Amino acid sequence: PLVLGMETSCDETGIGIVRGTTLLSNTIASSMDEHARYGGVVPEVAARAHLEELVPAIRAATAEAGISLDEIDAVAVTSGPGLSGALMVGVGAAKALAVALGKPVYAVNHLVGHVGADLLRTEDDQTDAPLEYPTIALLVSGGHTSLLLVRDLVSDVELLGETIDDAAGEAFDKVARILGLPYPGGPQIDRVALVGNPAAIRFPRGLSQTKDMARHRYDFSFSGLKTSVARWVEQRQDASEPVPIADVAASFREAVVDILLTKAVAACVDFEVPRLLLGGGVIANARLRQVAAERTDAAGIALRIPPLSLCTDNGAMIAALGAQLIMAGHEPSALDFGADSTLPVSEIQV
Ligand code: ATP
Ligand code: MG
Ligand code: FE
Repeated sequence: PLVLGMETSCDETGIGIVRGTTLLSNTIASSMDEHARYGGVVPEVAARAHLEELVPAIRAATAEAGISLDEIDAVAVTSGPGLSGALMVGVGAAKALAVALGKPVYAVNHLVGHVGADLLRTEDDQTDAPLEYPTIALLVSGGHTSLLLVRDLVSDVELLGETIDDAAGEAFDKVARILGLPYPGGPQIDRVALVGNPAAIRFPRGLSQTKDMARHRYDFSFSGLKTSVARWVEQRQDASEPVPIADVAASFREAVVDILLTKAVAACVDFEVPRLLLGGGVIANARLRQVAAERTDAAGIALRIPPLSLCTDNGAMIAALGAQLIMAGHEPSALDFGADSTLPVSEIQV
């Protein structure tokens, strides 16, 4: 089926068009720059940007795919989780488009969409092996840090654990701020960490002590780590000593990467699933990719990382999930669905 996917859960206005698992176009407009001076995504600003960007993005995506809107078989849209106001813009637009075209709508879960991204192939390159089940998925972005057990993309996704405070990307952004680096912090920390010593400072690994592991085996916590970095930097400043920014960045990054991959690999081992899929904007992190390759290799786990343009929020992954639902014979969503900012990952379609 030819599916147009809409994604507006955060600061990316994403429109993607797929035919089954073939990617035809993936248009992304981001309001990231508008949030920079606030040091994080401002919900109202994001929603207004979606309102302005959506129609141009639809036009760009159909042009790039070489199709006209009346050719599509269905519209897929993120209905949650995410920022309420931002989600509502996409949900409203998807309904309006579907009603105008007389086509069905599939309202889907954003996080499951991140997993669906791995299915997509370009028209020129269909060689990569298809996603196999079950798979463990680690999704890390500015808004999420989630560990999933995916037994079937359209029918069986289980949340194993998630962050109990800040998301990993949020931690990168906050620590960058502490170090005086601009937003978004992830790429900045990656850059300065290049010349730093990752073993210079031993920052705490949240929820990895024996006492935490019983209740929080697959959960994450980054706010203690952030506070620990802040305190370390303050002590230096109070003593009028220079702050070794590269070492702090490298040591902080090492702690985040260690926590994420220790838990993800543990889930693969515990559930005897020899496959790990990574998704979300933090996957851009060079050290995360490197350590992920090393540790999965050592543990005999197959590692899958979609191209970065499909790891960050995008409409193509939402279209891909919609196409899977159609191919599995699922009914379209009833048109009275809403936007659910806390939609649980087990609710694949709304
Ligand atoms: P959502 O949580 O809904 O997926 P988001 O917009 O917050 O939305 P993304 O756009 O996928 O998430 O990712 C942005 C986040 O990724 C930011 O927090 C940014 O700092 C982080 N990030 C980007 N590049 C890197 C990097 N090289 N290293 C670490 N973090 C990075
Ligand atoms: Mg984003
Ligand atoms: Fe996302």
